[in-house]
Amino acid sequence: MPAYCVNKNAQSNGDHEVHDLSAGCAYEPAQANRLALGFHGNCLSAVRAASNYHQQVNGCYYCARACHTG
Ligand SMILES: [Zn+2]
Repeated sequence: MPAYCVNKNAQSNGDHEVHDLSAGCAYEPAQANRLALGFHGNCLSAVRAASNYHQQVNGCYYCARACHTG
């Protein structure tokens, strides 16, 4: 299962993006801005975990596209 993180900083639209750390995503946040979400079987589970920390979360378009909305 891949490890996921959520960006501590919101995007301009208020989303906190969830990234799959195994994907080598070019848009994953800097180390200092990552909140580790642990290991998840899919991005939906990771997004659910992230929603415990931030009200507005969204999957990264590039590495968690199945969970990207908007
Ligand atoms: Zn990403």
